[in-house]
Amino acid sequence: RQEQYHRLRDVPAVSMDGVAIDLHMNAGLLVDLQHVAETGAVSVGLFRTELQFMLASRFPKLEEQERLYRSAIEAVGGREITFRTLDIGSDKILPYMTKIEEENPALGWRAIRIGLDRPGLLRTQLRALLRAGAGRVMRIMFPMISTLEEYESAKALVDRELAHMLRHNRQPPAELKLGVMIEVPSMLWQLDEVCQRVDFLSVGSNDLIQYLYAADRDNKRVASRFDALSPPVLRALKFIADKANAAGTPLALCGEIGGKPLEAMALMALGYRALSMSAASIGPVKAMLLATDLGKAEAFVLSLMDELTGGHSLRERLRQFAEAH
Ligand code: PEP
Ligand code: MG
Repeated sequence: RQEQYHRLRDVPAVSMDGVAIDLHMNAGLLVDLQHVAETGAVSVGLFRTELQFMLASRFPKLEEQERLYRSAIEAVGGREITFRTLDIGSDKILPYMTKIEEENPALGWRAIRIGLDRPGLLRTQLRALLRAGAGRVMRIMFPMISTLEEYESAKALVDRELAHMLRHNRQPPAELKLGVMIEVPSMLWQLDEVCQRVDFLSVGSNDLIQYLYAADRDNKRVASRFDALSPPVLRALKFIADKANAAGTPLALCGEIGGKPLEAMALMALGYRALSMSAASIGPVKAMLLATDLGKAEAFVLSLMDELTGGHSLRERLRQFAEAH
């Protein structure tokens, strides 16, 4: 199997009926980035910067962060890399940060909420990222954005850091692209405005599904109770794809479902043309894509969504379709 996927590395990711899909890789540590060339990934679609913070014994200093981000950029050898700013809180705890007791950590003080309330933290990270990206394309995205206003506040911090850089005659990135993760359902109802303001969107389906079904992604009792391959989730995902595609805003999805062949097929059928996944998932997803007529898959998925309106799992029907085709 591994051998077979390895041979697919240089095969273009195109469906049987000629639809090209960009397959990107998720990573969190420098060691993961060594695999980018082996996988044939177009880029690193999600670099989870918090992993480095979770391994450290204190907040990494500006220079340490800058060095790490520069190494990451160098490790991907000319490919793009999308850095996600610190996504801590909830399940991602920093041992050296005062633990805050919260009734509902997943709904609490996490990710961009911490970043905006402790701007020193976020600004240091942004400064390190902008410095590391000197003269190159720099892509930064913000996690857990719930309102357009939060994005505007985060962007204002970036602008401040850029101005600071220029005042100090430091070379800025040649191109700077800012994006938001779509992982809080409130974002669905702000998409028209958001699409006009951001350079790209990336759906964090792990959190989005958790919040859509109000089911803790790490709680075994409830996590498997709802299926991503069900009309409510697929409709939400289609709504996002339709809005982004109509606005011409680049869209990707970087949650776990993007790396599962059956789910990935459904996502492509819904209009997703870029998926970011773990290194090991790229081969299996590409093998599925090469054997799929996306036009047929799209017609089938849309008809299923019309036919079954409730929270039914469409998994079995989709599996039958995939096997028959
Ligand atoms: C997600 O929520 O889908 C995501 C990609 O981010 P994380 O899993 O790191 O929360
Ligand atoms: Mg998330």
